Amino acid sequence: MSTTPATVGSAATAPDPARWKGWIPVIGLEVHCQLKTRTKLFCGCEYRFGAEPNTLTCAVCTAQPGALPVLNREALALAVRAGLALGAEIAPWSKFDRKNYFYCDLPKGYQISQFDRPYCKGGGITLANGHRIRLTRIHLEEDAGKAIHDRGAQTLVDLNRASVPLIESVTEADVRSPEEAHEYLDRLKEILQYAGASDCDMEKGSLRVDVNVSVHRPGEPWRKRVELKNLNSFRNVSAAIEHELARQIAIYESNDPSQQVVQETRLFDAQAGVTRSMRGKEEAHDYRYFPEPDLLPIEIDAAFLAEQRAALGELPEAKRARFQSELGLSEYDAGVLTSSPALSRWFEECARLCGSPKDAANWIQNEILRGLSAEQRPASAIAELRVTPAGLAELIGLAHKGTLNVPGARQVLRAMLETGKGAAALVQELGLEQVSDTGALEQWCREALVGKDKVIADVKAGKEKAIGALVGPVMKASKGKANPQVVTEILLRLVKELP
Ligand SMILES: [Zn+2]
Repeated sequence: MSTTPATVGSAATAPDPARWKGWIPVIGLEVHCQLKTRTKLFCGCEYRFGAEPNTLTCAVCTAQPGALPVLNREALALAVRAGLALGAEIAPWSKFDRKNYFYCDLPKGYQISQFDRPYCKGGGITLANGHRIRLTRIHLEEDAGKAIHDRGAQTLVDLNRASVPLIESVTEADVRSPEEAHEYLDRLKEILQYAGASDCDMEKGSLRVDVNVSVHRPGEPWRKRVELKNLNSFRNVSAAIEHELARQIAIYESNDPSQQVVQETRLFDAQAGVTRSMRGKEEAHDYRYFPEPDLLPIEIDAAFLAEQRAALGELPEAKRARFQSELGLSEYDAGVLTSSPALSRWFEECARLCGSPKDAANWIQNEILRGLSAEQRPASAIAELRVTPAGLAELIGLAHKGTLNVPGARQVLRAMLETGKGAAALVQELGLEQVSDTGALEQWCREALVGKDKVIADVKAGKEKAIGALVGPVMKASKGKANPQVVTEILLRLVKELP
């Protein structure tokens, strides 16, 4: 992270200084993302989350003497795609370095990372308020294994994760509030998912966030920086920043010399809502970085770069703009439907098949996403449902033709989700075909009018809306299968025919 103050956006979008008693937050984010490769960074081992411990290992990733690393081309390709998607500059020449430290989950005694020559520099993400969070760099590195401490007196080590490919993206300290941190992470995750670089699944450890927090007075140098770890959701990231800012400011405001903010790493305890000291923060020289002698430098030529650029596909911002301009969606709908690549693909296919993007957007949001959210499943789970884009398109078509009314169509969709059967078959099976046969409808309407003199008088006096009170009983008589619009028309005609 550079030590120059962040360029801040317009005063209109800057956070309220009163919120932090005149102190200015200085926040930087370091995000590790696991690349979505089939195999590890320097060997042919696969990685699968949840596999039996130490079953996905070989001589290289367990650091047996004489074993040599070989760079995985796919990992480099995905890392480059991530950099391009974030508007960064890809270095034509970069190299790997050894980051030396001892821990039981790191059998080599060093991690292969990139120190002074990362493969990627610059880039960034512009937030909705117009403020840009600049990226300092992105580098490629291998993950460590996993030490499991909660087994009584023992510590167990699982090396399945050792040497899994990661990219670490580091921002400038441009983030000005917990909310901006959350938004930045949402955007970053979306971009990396669209680029196909990472699943960014925090629960499976494929996205991890560390935060640097300090504060300063306007015009004064930055105070001591504290690193926060153990942040297992974006909500916890913003909560931890909020608490840490309050803690640091309270110490500075107290003017009590026995209380100090020290440069250290703190863990966030989400339950207690506090940060706790973990250890003093290492400086880069503590790791004694030196060039990795077992690997060649990374040279990226124009052809490789062009190949990765071509593989990128449409990124979320461009997709949102196109959903609005080409498909006529609102900004809000476009935002919801591009929130995951799986969802946007599902929507686009359904919209194309049914020919009405607006209807597809409404049905997906009002019925399908609402259902997923009630089950606490992410929007991307739409791809796992028993209803396909073609299935929903068929249902929308039936509703358009007037075969089904809206409540009937909802009932059919629920049955489709449960059984996986097609819309037309379920309409038959559930006997939901809308009744537009005027003979039957007229009979029910006549019955509904009996004794309703007040309604009849109101309608005759010009208050046509009064007829609404009689539509319900007719719908009920038809067991929900009547077309409410046709019912209204018949009722109004019948009233007018009355003497
Ligand atoms: Zn291996």
